[in-house]
Amino acid sequence: MKASDTLEQIIPAQVFKTEVLSWAKRIGVEPKEIRLRLMKSKWASCSSNGRLTFNTEILQQPASFRSEAIVHELLHLKLPNHGKLFKNLMRAYLSQNK
Ligand SMILES: [Zn+2]
Repeated sequence: MKASDTLEQIIPAQVFKTEVLSWAKRIGVEPKEIRLRLMKSKWASCSSNGRLTFNTEILQQPASFRSEAIVHELLHLKLPNHGKLFKNLMRAYLSQNK
């Protein structure tokens, strides 16, 4: 399969899910389910039972943006809020990846 130039920024859903799982491993969390669906006003959400949903449009976003959204949601499996620890962990994980 050969992607055309205009589509090269769009990654397959399966590749995205693999990215999420590799981040989950690094962070040490186990999402119950990873779903993609069209969302109107946000990039992702995390339910209290460990299911993550990402906006399908994230497949068209640059890798750095995807990583940020993925790490954010996965960290919510550890921390429910956006406190200081959350922000520090976000920064720590994302700086490793660049
Ligand atoms: Zn959040």
